[in-house]
Amino acid sequence: MRIFWAITCFIVALTLAISDVQAQTPAKTAPQFDKELVRVRILTNSKKVQVAGQSLRFQILSQPYRPVAIPQSGAAEVRVMRKNGKHVWALRLNNRDNEHLFKEKYLMIQGENLRVGGQSLPSRVMLAKGAGDQVDVVGVLPLDEYIAGVLASEMPISWPLETLKAQAVAARSYALAVMAEREDKAYHLESSVLDQVFRHIAGDDSDPKLKKALQAVHETAGIKLIDRSHKVLKAYYHADCGGHTTHAKNVWSGGVNSGVAVDNSCPTNPKANWTVKFTRSEIADKLKLPSIQEITLDRMTGDTRIRGVQVAVNETDSKYISANEFRQALGFTELRSTLFDLKKNQDEFVFTGRGFGHGVGLCQWGSRALGLKGKNFNQILKHYYPAAQIAQN
Ligand SMILES: [Zn+2]
Repeated sequence: MRIFWAITCFIVALTLAISDVQAQTPAKTAPQFDKELVRVRILTNSKKVQVAGQSLRFQILSQPYRPVAIPQSGAAEVRVMRKNGKHVWALRLNNRDNEHLFKEKYLMIQGENLRVGGQSLPSRVMLAKGAGDQVDVVGVLPLDEYIAGVLASEMPISWPLETLKAQAVAARSYALAVMAEREDKAYHLESSVLDQVFRHIAGDDSDPKLKKALQAVHETAGIKLIDRSHKVLKAYYHADCGGHTTHAKNVWSGGVNSGVAVDNSCPTNPKANWTVKFTRSEIADKLKLPSIQEITLDRMTGDTRIRGVQVAVNETDSKYISANEFRQALGFTELRSTLFDLKKNQDEFVFTGRGFGHGVGLCQWGSRALGLKGKNFNQILKHYYPAAQIAQN
């Protein structure tokens, strides 16, 4: 152990001595991302981020491995600053006065029990210079560790194991498809509903929540959905279909058809029905229009969801807005789905609807009902993605 720390301290001294020199030397090679690992943006902070943890080590992707270690525990403050008109990283360790400068685009931090504020992070994070002077904190972790964090965030862990397993396969397929699409980007995935909700689960395998999430991940290891063109399916999923799911192309242009499903149990879910009211001026503000005279629903044939809305601004002007854009403008959590009716009550628009989410792919509430009926995860996946194949590595 002593020898280890002696070597570590030597490396610390060496690295601190050369770190300012590195800032002057342009990077010669492009960063080598590890293709096996998922990069998920966990946080975006303006200019400065404070990372705490034990045995912190820093690495620059474009240089040979040069760790900076802090024995036992430590904290690092990393900020983006401008030097000679260029963005550079300024790294300050344990509140010491001197800062070490790095001009590289990415800075890797490894350590144990890594945290930013109260939030737990995976044992490896990458700081990337985001838009403006933003610092993007990107978790870099094995796919299945990421899927366990998605599972624990996207679905109550008390739900049937087979339902969690179906969700694990959908989340893995979605992640793999997106990783291929965005392999050259600093990060593959957002940790929010924009992609999949992800929170790193701190704790060891004895934590019951983590244990069940990991069981669902391990029991489906290597299993993914494949579309008709033999690519990994970008497997969408949502909270509650309200009675039946819909095609991806009805929500986004260019979506792959994975089939549709009927869920008789979903309309009976007591939380399935909702009503939301907006005043005329609230809707005008949200749609960034000068006024709203009338909203006419454009309903799909053979599908009770709406395709879009025709909004009359005044006697002569009107604007067509797709259903998904309309939901986004009014708020995805307020206008909970595109399965709704609309009534005008003087100056108020009253939306009465069913279900929650875009309605494409796996329905989480329906998959819970199927799990409770004793269906296994293969049967659940076949129900929601009838046009896809289930494959194993
Ligand atoms: Zn459903």
